[in-house]
Amino acid sequence: MCGIIGYIGGKAATPYLLEGLKRMEYRGYDSAGVAVYDGASIVTRRAAGKIARLEAALLKEPAEGSVGIGHTRWATHGPPTERNAHPHLSADGTVAVVHNGIIENATTLRSALQEAGYDFRSDTDTEVVAHLVQELFDGSLEEAVIMALAKIEGTYGIAVVSSRDPGKIVAARKGSPLLLGIGEHEHFVASDASAILAHTRQVVYLDDGDVAVIERDGYRVLDVNAMPLARRVDKIDWEIGAIERGGYAHFMLKEIFEQPQTVENAMRGRLILEDGTSKLGGLNLTHEQLMAVDNIIITACGTSWHSALIGELLIEELCRIPVEVEYASEFRYRNPIVTDTTLCIVISQSGETADTLAAMREAKRRGARTLGLVNVVGSTIAREDDGGIYLHAGPEIGVASTKAFTSQVAALYVLAIHLGLARGTLSPAEAVRRVEDLLL
Ligand code: GLU
Repeated sequence: MCGIIGYIGGKAATPYLLEGLKRMEYRGYDSAGVAVYDGASIVTRRAAGKIARLEAALLKEPAEGSVGIGHTRWATHGPPTERNAHPHLSADGTVAVVHNGIIENATTLRSALQEAGYDFRSDTDTEVVAHLVQELFDGSLEEAVIMALAKIEGTYGIAVVSSRDPGKIVAARKGSPLLLGIGEHEHFVASDASAILAHTRQVVYLDDGDVAVIERDGYRVLDVNAMPLARRVDKIDWEIGAIERGGYAHFMLKEIFEQPQTVENAMRGRLILEDGTSKLGGLNLTHEQLMAVDNIIITACGTSWHSALIGELLIEELCRIPVEVEYASEFRYRNPIVTDTTLCIVISQSGETADTLAAMREAKRRGARTLGLVNVVGSTIAREDDGGIYLHAGPEIGVASTKAFTSQVAALYVLAIHLGLARGTLSPAEAVRRVEDLLL
């Protein structure tokens, strides 16, 4: 639970960075910071605690420039202090890095860099990236980042700036979400769409292994060999009001009250009252594939795992297919029975839950068809599954899931009716009765 934001354009970067950080503060924070290129060098400001403390530090000592990166940290390596707050600078101060995730081989890399004379100023795993990029820099920031990443094991979303190649931000992801925002003569990078939604709706979701270069007037996505990749531009259709509290004391309270609408959204247009049938356009399952399914695994974590338990009851009741609910974080560490007649349903509000994504990949690898129940359009699970059902609940900002949970249950119910009717285990009359119950 941490956040990355980056801005490059014609305006002052800091207000964009602070606003983005505040929008992501709900994800948790223990410290925050920004790094801005001021035309000559990289200036950093960092503070332990809430974003307001960073804001106060910036009021006292502004950081001016139109290229910058920011971070809210959720510490994994080293206490939540100012010295461990991101961005982290390279030894010579020319490279600044923000990072979400965990670098697994940080200890080994750190020893090697220390032996080569690099002084470390934090306890984080992240700092190795800054020194590595400095060490490998030879004129092009993206090339140095690509070479540095080749040495890194673990998960990351990163954004990097350098005063030696200043007109750009280089970003990369592996196992931690990151998207680019495309504006008019300005570009953004963020770990969460809500951080940039006020400024642009045009986004490019990065895939694992992508390295992106954003400049004032353009962007490029590269692979690990610096070869250009084509990536689709998506449009975020959330209203800005959806990421604001709208008079409620807390996001969670707002989301609880949204449920009559969001539950309806999960079913609207999908259930036909007259004949009890349902339309699930995104399943991508032929009738033959659907009939061939002889077992279902539902995998998820946390609250989504609880909706999976309800899904198990609904599907077994209406479809007579055996269902197993698997905790996603355990799934790939055992030897699950998965065949090409297994349907694996994965549930995640964000579509980015790392363990759930890993479980889905494992099920796919073993031959299952995968079906994602996710809320965030364009998220990694939604892009990698074979088919899916979007929840259409709007952004869920409260960390304790409420409306996404009820939408998941509603979507599972629609799915159970769909499968039951198709396979003949649910009579049309019973389907109509249930659809009436749900819709009226
Ligand atoms: N592992 C890094 C640290 O401890 C990043 C944590 C995060 O994702 O915020 O600083």
